[in-house]
Amino acid sequence: MHNLKITVGLSSPVILSRYTTIDSILIALYFAKLRKLGRIGNDFVKTEDFIPEISKFIQVKNGALSGSIWYVGKEATVSPSNAMLVKTKDREHMLKYTGKIQDNDGSGEYKLYRFGFEALDIKEIYFYVVGDKEIIEDLLKDLKGIGKKNSVGFGLIDKIKVEETDEDKSFIIKGQASRPLPCRSWNLESDRVMFYRAYPPYYDKKDKVPCYMPPTSLIEYEPIENSRNYISLKEQDYIYPTKFAYNAVKEVLPKPDYPQMIEAKTCSACGKVHDRGVKLTDVFKPASNNDYAFLEKGDFICEYCDWSVKSESQNYLGYLLIAQNWHKHIQGKNMEGENDKEKQEIRAQLFSNLDEQTPPFYIGIKSTKNQQHVVFKSTVSISNALIPIQYGNDTYVIDVELFNRAIDELKKLIKETGISKIFWINQEIISGPVFHLPAKDDTPKNRESLNNFYKKYDRSIRVFLNRAVITEEDVKKRKTKKS
Ligand SMILES: [Zn+2]
Repeated sequence: MHNLKITVGLSSPVILSRYTTIDSILIALYFAKLRKLGRIGNDFVKTEDFIPEISKFIQVKNGALSGSIWYVGKEATVSPSNAMLVKTKDREHMLKYTGKIQDNDGSGEYKLYRFGFEALDIKEIYFYVVGDKEIIEDLLKDLKGIGKKNSVGFGLIDKIKVEETDEDKSFIIKGQASRPLPCRSWNLESDRVMFYRAYPPYYDKKDKVPCYMPPTSLIEYEPIENSRNYISLKEQDYIYPTKFAYNAVKEVLPKPDYPQMIEAKTCSACGKVHDRGVKLTDVFKPASNNDYAFLEKGDFICEYCDWSVKSESQNYLGYLLIAQNWHKHIQGKNMEGENDKEKQEIRAQLFSNLDEQTPPFYIGIKSTKNQQHVVFKSTVSISNALIPIQYGNDTYVIDVELFNRAIDELKKLIKETGISKIFWINQEIISGPVFHLPAKDDTPKNRESLNNFYKKYDRSIRVFLNRAVITEEDVKKRKTKKS
């Protein structure tokens, strides 16, 4: 086993989740190889069942695989651009659940089923792993693209370099996790804790446990002076978001009594076994619903998930901060505040003080006004240092220490450079693939400031900075809107 650094050269912009680790890429390549050899079928493969074989080429330590998230070099240039992909119909999912494709050009949610991605233009990214150099190099030969949407040209790889390094940075960098590490078997001085899976595939809904998570900056973490006292629940059993939401708002939004099923079943929305619920097709209508991509195989929806989906259609559940014994509207008509200005300021206050929330809590915000279901797609936060926020179909994870730093820095940068907020945060509502800095601002010095900002603050932070920082521009915009 060697300490390895894997550098991936990219020939096109990449759409990559912050927590993508090299082990999940290697494991996927390994299972693809076993499938080709006919050693496993096409069904879901549990990584846990292959640990003895995997540990021959990737180190396994305290219930976690070696393999860091991706990083960019300190001197690298990073520029975001917006990629818009329109998904007209999820034919594959429709077929899976109904056995037929219903052609309905549709209205409402169909029209709005657009995916806005931020693609990053980066020359190369790198990862750390402890493993067998030869086997890993061999597996990587089959890797042609990385991240989402390789098939339409994103994340194409032009070269891969595997080199030996002195230090092992594949689990921890400067006291912080450099990959998800289960709290039950690791002990770190960190409150960046969230429900996550200990083994790949990390997107799976089952078996989530409290894990230490890496800081979200794109460059390797540099510790900073930190006087805040964060709280994290490192021994918390998994909390299902729909049941959590129900317990908090049941007095306003009661749930009917559901009949008991003959046998308990796994809910396709939350992945938990329940004995009360309804048929999947009673909740998610194949012709008019696009949530199929977020459901697991099955035909059953539990009482809490059914209640949450139906309640969101009544527009109460869609814009909430929910804690154990209370809830608060953070957007929309039910929010406190007399007018838009007051609402905007209340919201900015809330987002500027996220570390004051006591876990567990939940934040969910619809990104479209019509029927969109955010609760069952969300994650309950078990820390006020790392906060998953469900925004439409995406889960954004806010690294609060970095977020608070970004708020102060952004205010200063806007004042110093005169460059407006949208260029620092990148637009959240996608209106075109490219946005241009006004000619007068397009100087090497400003480009460098923007570039440094993007490297420190990932997409999640920048999207929510829009709510935390109110600029003079925003105030002006509000005035013109009124007149
Ligand atoms: Zn459920």
